Amino acid sequence: MTDFAATKAMFNLPDGLVYLDGNSLGALPKAATARVSEMMTKEWGERLITSWNLSGWMAQPMTLGDRIGGLIGAEPGHVAVGDTLSIKVYQALAAALDLRPDRRVILSDSGNFPTDLYMAEGLLKTLGKGHELRVVAPEDVADNLTEDVAVLMLTEVDYRTGRLHDMADLTTKAHAVGALTLWDLAHTAGALPVDVAGCNADFAVGCTYKYLNGGPGAPAFVYVAPRHADAVAPALSGWQGHTAPFAFDLDYRPASGVERMRVGTPPVIQMAALETAMDIWDMADMTDVRARSIELTDLFISEIEATCPMLTLASPRDGLHRGSQVSFRFEHGYAAMQAIIAEGVVGDFRAPDLLRFGFTPLYTDEGDVRTAVTRIARVMNDKLWDRPEYKIQKAVT
Ligand SMILES: *Cc1c(COP(=O)(O)O)cnc(C)c1O
Repeated sequence: MTDFAATKAMFNLPDGLVYLDGNSLGALPKAATARVSEMMTKEWGERLITSWNLSGWMAQPMTLGDRIGGLIGAEPGHVAVGDTLSIKVYQALAAALDLRPDRRVILSDSGNFPTDLYMAEGLLKTLGKGHELRVVAPEDVADNLTEDVAVLMLTEVDYRTGRLHDMADLTTKAHAVGALTLWDLAHTAGALPVDVAGCNADFAVGCTYKYLNGGPGAPAFVYVAPRHADAVAPALSGWQGHTAPFAFDLDYRPASGVERMRVGTPPVIQMAALETAMDIWDMADMTDVRARSIELTDLFISEIEATCPMLTLASPRDGLHRGSQVSFRFEHGYAAMQAIIAEGVVGDFRAPDLLRFGFTPLYTDEGDVRTAVTRIARVMNDKLWDRPEYKIQKAVT
């Protein structure tokens, strides 16, 4: 059994604050401060460039990839860390399209995070081969899996509502029509168990600064199924994905396996922070995390519904169909969230009217949920949100 009191003690959590936004930016592992400082003073400061070898910097994209791979059911050696998620979406989609040269449709859904769709649009324009990005409603995905689909590109957990796609089922259906799958696990990795190998997923990508707690700007990850790993042609053919980067050949020859999805120099300071987060993940079992997440989100939903009749649940009521987040609709959602934050509960707002709350069992417990509900109920019932200062829109919502 995962000792959640022990994992909670490993995070820096400001006194009195209930943090329900770990789905957007995970909390700071206490050990990260010392680890990053050591990395800076000793590895960078003293060892300087020798640290690429001596401190293992160059190996980290793959060793961290394996540690993340353990949380998503990937075969060892088939996850690489680096770049941002937007870039990994681009790379993985380009690789997948290249494996289906006779098809022209990318199927996605309107619940996808916009950057995934934007990156696809940009890629299709660059390819200039007349591909079509077909975006349908989430519930219509299966019906739109036709023989012309090259790639099914979906985010497993909807970033707004937390609605969960059935990854195993849709992957099987996509394969049945000859399409490949690209799963974005941004709101899955560290939130619920997933088995990319068991589902036969072709490609998967995700970020490490949300549920994985790697810190702002922490690198993304990419998984390529072993059956494709030596066949994909990287669209972003950077030197770190070359088979011999330090041969400095004039021609690109891809590294074997998923290492060819590396692009440039890895973000070492960020990876040092991410390492400390992965140390905490070593103490956790994803099955326990999922069970606790459903308990906490169920409790939150029932208590909010009992105390705040003006809020409408936007997330699936059945925990099995929900990621680790809960959203409620409210007409004055932006102002309400500002007031809720001022009362010491941090969630976020997603246009047009969603109050979104993320639940992270590694550092959120039942007491936090009850405190949050009391504070939210006060904001809603006393209309504390109805003040001019809460209506001024900031750049990041
Ligand atoms: C958070 C998120 C992103 C963010 O991409 P970055 O390049 O890391 O900014 C992309 N896709 C999905 C589905 C996300 O949830």
